[in-house]
Amino acid sequence: MVSITREQINALIELQSIDVESLKIKSFLKSIQPKVDAFDERIKQVEQAISLKESIIAELKQEYRSREVDVQDNQNRMRKNNEKLVSVKTNKEYHAILKENEGLHKKNSIIEDDILQKLDVLEKEENAILQDKSELSKLKNETAQEIAALKEKGEAEKEKLQSLLAAWEEIEKNMDPEVIKRFKIAREQTKSSAISAVKNEICQGCHMNIPPQMYNELQRFEKLEFCPRCYRIIYWAE
Ligand SMILES: [Zn+2]
Repeated sequence: MVSITREQINALIELQSIDVESLKIKSFLKSIQPKVDAFDERIKQVEQAISLKESIIAELKQEYRSREVDVQDNQNRMRKNNEKLVSVKTNKEYHAILKENEGLHKKNSIIEDDILQKLDVLEKEENAILQDKSELSKLKNETAQEIAALKEKGEAEKEKLQSLLAAWEEIEKNMDPEVIKRFKIAREQTKSSAISAVKNEICQGCHMNIPPQMYNELQRFEKLEFCPRCYRIIYWAE
């Protein structure tokens, strides 16, 4: 039998509320790094999308230049053909050259249409990328602010946790070690709260009825009692 006083029960209730508060803080502190990682990941995704667009643009530009070279080549060829026309000997040769120039001319007009289309796409992509970049810089700013706020809160919470732990130790110092030991065991067993009120013969931890004899003893605040079902330390709440 571990004897107890009403004051000690109150101290245990206080320890429990410190536990609850500490757990909240610990879980917040644990959540900081994953949040920071998620922010970084979002930025990385936008950056990747931009770099994909940039490579599409570079490819388009390359195609566009090579089409321009094609037009130039065809034009040179037509010019040479025109020079040749002056010195051709036969009618057949003359017509052959004209026909070739006609073909080259058609080819160039198809290529030029293609070039115009590519320029159009290029312009759209370049505008889109400008917008993406401005969004990226906005996102980076916002993210940096959010991360800074998160870390600042983290530091404040760490300090709060330190003072909670100090308060725990302060209370523990003035308690019967046997009571503390039982409290810790109950906390370990329930994986949550170690102590629970009993109201109208019902344990508030597991909502089960307490035997009448035990309920009577509880009201005397003489010895440590445990709920027969959830093993929490129990106390009488008026
Ligand atoms: Zn219980």
